[in-house]
Amino acid sequence: MNFDHILNNLHVKCSAEKDTGKIANYIPELKKVNANKFGIYLDTLSTEQVGIGDCNEKFSIQSISKVFTLTLALKIIGDKIWKRVGVEPSGDPFNSLVQLELEKGIPRNPFINSGALVIADLLVSKLKNPKEDTLNFIRKISNNQNIYSNESIAASEKKYGFKNAAHINLMKSFGNIKNSVDEVLDYYYQMCAIEMSCKELASSFQLFANGGVLPYNNEEILTPSYTKRINATMQLCGLYDEAGNFAFKVGLPGKSGVGGGIVAVCPHKYAIAIWSPKLNKKGNSVKALKVLEEFTTQTELSIF
Ligand code: GLU
Repeated sequence: MNFDHILNNLHVKCSAEKDTGKIANYIPELKKVNANKFGIYLDTLSTEQVGIGDCNEKFSIQSISKVFTLTLALKIIGDKIWKRVGVEPSGDPFNSLVQLELEKGIPRNPFINSGALVIADLLVSKLKNPKEDTLNFIRKISNNQNIYSNESIAASEKKYGFKNAAHINLMKSFGNIKNSVDEVLDYYYQMCAIEMSCKELASSFQLFANGGVLPYNNEEILTPSYTKRINATMQLCGLYDEAGNFAFKVGLPGKSGVGGGIVAVCPHKYAIAIWSPKLNKKGNSVKALKVLEEFTTQTELSIF
């Protein structure tokens, strides 16, 4: 299969199409990004790689970090985490408060903001230096020491994160947050503000394509069973309230972020990351969705 040819054609085609999306503007620092950035990186387990456009430029990974924190929590705490967060799609926007009140402070899944805040709380309880320990974990699975969090983005989010403050306080009132609200929010924002390139994301997500084993040194980070759970959670909950449409059109486990990135995984075959900052109304990158839909259609490499 000529991946290089397929992806280059898709990059040219999508670059030429009118993009009706809008950059996320509810976090002031995120507005500073150049809206026309567009990168694609494919990393196959058979060591073939294809990088196009702005694939080496770092961007704010935002909610994609929720996959890394879930992975670390499952690895060090195990199945006990599911007592405090569910695995069902929410069908509501990522920052909706409605279900959380009705369901007594137990978030539907770890990829909506409230769920990621519970995972953050669990990790703050377990880790000595939550931010550094998590960054080191991500550096390890990416085989790359050059991964950092952007302090001005984290600060900007904290200043304007009224909804997240509402979520965490509501959960605290139900007893589902054990640490101080401030400490957990700080850690959560540091994770959202991590910056990685498409290349770095595709490389780190190979772990989920490779049954939980790091392809570069064969170390098992997750059991096959936990890897299956993370991929299943991405499939059902990874694209906000557009996860059904993503399964329908793309057919891969994936995770998006409001920085405009989407990473998707084809088990036993590849991981692919795309970045283009303009988002549709559901908060997902318009171009990234288009590339993924066409890529799995043309290659017939989806899980279905
Ligand atoms: N930091 C963002 C927030 O908490 C993450 C949103 C996202 O990428 O889904 O609202």
